[in-house]
Amino acid sequence: MGFTISRQSVPAIVVPQEAAELVRFASQELKRYLGRVLGKEPIITQSADGPAIALKICKDTNLSQEGYEIRTDGQTLTISAPEPVGVVFGTYYFLTQYVGCRFTGLAPDGEYIPQRESVEIGDVAVQRKPKLWYRGLQFSKTEGLNDYPAETAIKRIDWMAKNGMNFVLYTPKYQFGEGGADRFYTDTWFFRHIYPEVRKRGLKLDMNHHNLFYWLPPEKYFKEHPEWYALRNGKRSAYPAQLAICTSNAQAVETLVQNVLAYLREHPEVEIVGVIPEDGWGMCECEECRKLDFPDEKFCVGPVDYRKPEGENRSKARRYALLVNEVARAVKKEFPSVYVGMAAYIDIQWPPRDVVLEDNVVPWVAIYWRCGAHPLGPHSCPVNTLFWDILKEWKKAHVGRLILYEYYMGMATYRSLPFPVAEVMIREWPGLKELGVDGATIQSTGESHETYGLNYYTFARLGWEDNLEYEEVLDDYLLGMFGSVASEVRPIWETLVGNLQRIEKFGVRATPYKESVDEGCFTQNAWEFNALADSRALERFRACCRRALKKAVTDRERRQVEMLLVSIRYWELAGRAMDVYFRATQADKKDEKEKAVKLYKDFISQVDPILDHEARFVGRGWMGLSNDTDQWRRSGERARRRIEVVTTGMKNV
Ligand SMILES: [Zn+2]
Ligand SMILES: [Zn+2]
Repeated sequence: MGFTISRQSVPAIVVPQEAAELVRFASQELKRYLGRVLGKEPIITQSADGPAIALKICKDTNLSQEGYEIRTDGQTLTISAPEPVGVVFGTYYFLTQYVGCRFTGLAPDGEYIPQRESVEIGDVAVQRKPKLWYRGLQFSKTEGLNDYPAETAIKRIDWMAKNGMNFVLYTPKYQFGEGGADRFYTDTWFFRHIYPEVRKRGLKLDMNHHNLFYWLPPEKYFKEHPEWYALRNGKRSAYPAQLAICTSNAQAVETLVQNVLAYLREHPEVEIVGVIPEDGWGMCECEECRKLDFPDEKFCVGPVDYRKPEGENRSKARRYALLVNEVARAVKKEFPSVYVGMAAYIDIQWPPRDVVLEDNVVPWVAIYWRCGAHPLGPHSCPVNTLFWDILKEWKKAHVGRLILYEYYMGMATYRSLPFPVAEVMIREWPGLKELGVDGATIQSTGESHETYGLNYYTFARLGWEDNLEYEEVLDDYLLGMFGSVASEVRPIWETLVGNLQRIEKFGVRATPYKESVDEGCFTQNAWEFNALADSRALERFRACCRRALKKAVTDRERRQVEMLLVSIRYWELAGRAMDVYFRATQADKKDEKEKAVKLYKDFISQVDPILDHEARFVGRGWMGLSNDTDQWRRSGERARRRIEVVTTGMKNV
């Protein structure tokens, strides 16, 4: 009958005496979760006579790169891997696949842990290794990270390990010295408070995202060397706009390179170090920099419509590629196993035309404002086909690793509204894998993790599996999140995905916002959420939750459904407000002044209730405050400015 574990004969967990820290960590996790399943904790020992689960390192080269093997032999089940982190991943997989746990939401409430007298494991002989090299979430902004203990960030790191993700992307800020400020954090802070959690689980570090000024901080150099920084409108400037340094200045480049090397010496644990332009648009206008540009290209710092082939800036891409190669060559010499991260986004999302990048460079290609209704592919809608073509160009131009920068947190102009693209992801990743894309870093924040949890979970699964069925992934996800009431709330996800598929199928006919929808796509201006769930749908969602609350058997299930209800209330407030905002802008465009003012005022009156609602539930991982608050406030300010402009116009008439 094969391997069975039961309360009557709880298996011992066997760990060699000299086991690595990570293997010990895995054994503690196994003990903790088996204890919860069986109601009786196993012991951890160095040898056992009876039934046992052995954790150990093996030398199977076939399994390198985080892979593992699970195998039964008589009374022993062995989880082994060539690297200690493989034992961690293998242990969580064992708990999921064979014991029945689901770690699909943030712990503890987002996890389903069955309680059983016994679990029949059967005969097992399985080897698994990742299908994608890079599987990561970002911890770069709006984490509430500086608000130690940064619980949500730590929960997400825990979640990543449980679901087989590996790269933690972090972005320290230079300018705050030793402390933190606003929603950013320093390197010291990250290594003190967050890194121990990363290390404990064997995850990898990717120091990445807008950081050009981290490597060449104007606070430190501008006074003495203004010529190291970009010439902007005829003046040297320390303004952080994209390629904001003078890349033709050899001294500036050399200083930057030395700073990167110094950082790596200080942090041998970093596996990828990015050299990434600052946010916004810009590059140096000086004569020396201009000499390096394509003579036939009109000088343009941006902004441009980058979702069209004409948006390519060949000169900027070349300058940036030359800079990255300088860093990459120096890094390769001293740190041969470290990769250099690079950004391919907006007007520099195309590969450089005539610079071959070093093979230790890992560009991330940002699928920025993609369409969520259509899969990325060669025959998709115009915007997604453009992204696909760019990826193809990259694969031709670059021999090294290539990853995506994905927005599975849905943009929604950062408003924590659902972006139900998991089913589209499952359709598009086989093609991306075939093309040779090595994974993705996912823009995401802890504050809204659960809203996009299914997307993150689906990506984690895609990192290890090729043939996924959306319905099965959804079932697993909902079981983890909602346990015994999963089927009660399932219609909510079915409706959201169903309506997204209607947009894919019927284009603009499936949305009330025809004026705003580009080719019947779903790029999600926040008002387009109403195309996924109108007020009647939201009423049905609530009915689902009420049924779930009645049927729930544990407190954690009730808490989960209550948080879902809180989210639905937020969706309702946000959807209604954005609908008004949309109609206001339409009236404004048509010059219907009185109507526009009335609608703008209506919108403004709805902002505070939204912020109040958010404020009551912030920090639980379902909806955010920092980014969201900014977005709502900014929309409110825009509405106020429009009222001013429109009413001034009215008086003048
Ligand atoms: Zn310059
Ligand atoms: Zn589309």
